Amino acid sequence: MDKTAKIFVAGHRGLVGSSILRKLHNLKYERIITRSRSELDLGNQQAVLEFFMDERPDYVFLAAAKVGGIHANHTYPAQFIYENLTIQANVIHSAYLSKVTKLLFLGSSCIYPKYAPQPMKEECLLTGELEPTNESYAIAKISGIKMCEAYNRQYQTQFISVMPTNLYGIHDNFDLETSHVLPALLRKFHEAKLNNQPFVSVWGSGKPKREFLYVDDLADACVFLMQRDVSGEQSILNIGVGQDLSILELALLIKKIVGYEGEVRFDPEKPDGTPRKLLDVSRMEKLGWKAKVTLEEGLKQTYEWYVNQGIAGY
Ligand code: GDP
Repeated sequence: MDKTAKIFVAGHRGLVGSSILRKLHNLKYERIITRSRSELDLGNQQAVLEFFMDERPDYVFLAAAKVGGIHANHTYPAQFIYENLTIQANVIHSAYLSKVTKLLFLGSSCIYPKYAPQPMKEECLLTGELEPTNESYAIAKISGIKMCEAYNRQYQTQFISVMPTNLYGIHDNFDLETSHVLPALLRKFHEAKLNNQPFVSVWGSGKPKREFLYVDDLADACVFLMQRDVSGEQSILNIGVGQDLSILELALLIKKIVGYEGEVRFDPEKPDGTPRKLLDVSRMEKLGWKAKVTLEEGLKQTYEWYVNQGIAGY
């Protein structure tokens, strides 16, 4: 991917897309194309095809998706499956028709079976039942991965898929109903501190374990992969930090970073989801890539951004 390559970042306003865009700008890539939702509806097959035929990008980062936390996935399964299937089918097929050199599809660690052996290797895809709370999203993402593989096999394309673990960082969604656990807890602890609340309610039992990757590390990995030849069996790659912690441990760390002094209470009425979700990251390590941002550092940066955005109640 030389500096004059034409690069399309689909979903450039989201958590992942905006981070990839920052990374490409920092690396001085000159020809980056973006389209807002009002300029190009990625769910519109005709419009997407016309866009690809007109612009002819060389490289595509497919970071556009409908995403959300456990509650959103559980409440809007139809939207999660429909929007993701249509966006990715339109983009992947148009990328093939317009002869894109290389495409990187953003998958998710929730594609792996609920009770997959931990840490989860890429090979465990489709070896067991999925976690029901995010099955629609997972099925859509699995279809995207399989679509990339099928196109590679039949059309000799270079479409690769990355499976990031739970992501967080600046530009995340902090809406308490639809967000993931990490931004939700940052916000809950922050508001509890401001309002002198005696306790913060954390969903579920606190026992599930999750791994968290700072989004700038993911963007770094995505650009790293675009710059290298990783075809063949490495068309699926896990991206994580290789270490997890319980929701209780996460809550206590966030409590410390925010400086909240009240109590942490668990709400067993809310679902726990998958008991554990830790990725095996040895494939990426073999390629020479490792995450750099520690959870504590990443949390501090994200908290600072949240507070300075003015959305945190100041
Ligand atoms: P998941 O990784 O797909 O299960 O999605 P989440 O990030 O939404 O949830 C991860 C875990 O954190 C689940 O066990 C949730 O029950 C738990 N959790 C605790 N408090 C919260 C919260 O305030 N919001 C969210 N989304 N999850 C929470």
